[in-house]
Amino acid sequence: MCDTHDHDRSSLVPGMYPAFEECVRFHGHACPGLATGYRVAVAAMQALCVARPYDEELVAIAETDACGVDAIQMVTGCTAGKGNLIIRDYGKHAFTFISREQGKAVRVLVAHEDMPEREEMGLLRGKVFSDTATDAERERFYALMKAATDRILMMPADEVVTVRSVSIEPPAKARIFTSVPCALCGEPVADAKTRTLDGERVCIPCYDARGPAGS
Ligand SMILES: [Zn+2]
Ligand SMILES: [Zn+2]
Repeated sequence: MCDTHDHDRSSLVPGMYPAFEECVRFHGHACPGLATGYRVAVAAMQALCVARPYDEELVAIAETDACGVDAIQMVTGCTAGKGNLIIRDYGKHAFTFISREQGKAVRVLVAHEDMPEREEMGLLRGKVFSDTATDAERERFYALMKAATDRILMMPADEVVTVRSVSIEPPAKARIFTSVPCALCGEPVADAKTRTLDGERVCIPCYDARGPAGS
């Protein structure tokens, strides 16, 4: 942990990190999951003493592929495309952030929250997304979503997340793969991602369609 930031919500200084609204634009909607991801990302950057996104010096490992990952990409600058966001979908709200520059790593767990809106939101969600909700139900659903989102953004950090230091080696920096044509579909595919089928190099979709799994 560093001394330069305190860990309460007053340290969510505008401008220091991308605003939540930027995450909403990127993600497409405001939701409790995105808000939680936002708090995770800011807490991690504070703990690692990283004030703003910086390229591949920071690595994030997310153990879920849910909404919150989009806030983490926006706030930390760890993105799937750069290879410094690694998704290991174990279905856990757990995130590890490694700063190569600081030689530090933290594991951030989302605190179990008794979201009072959860049950009613769950009931309405099905109706809203299957287009069977009345206008009133739809309105209620989005009001609940907003209330839950706002509350998560305003809660003291230690009620949303727990952060602890861990020692973990950063994964190797993004490797450059050579491409080879798939023996079946002919499309170029990264060498390291090919499978061998009847002695030939094929891409994974072709392997799955024609190989042992598909036969
Ligand atoms: Zn969402
Ligand atoms: Zn193929």
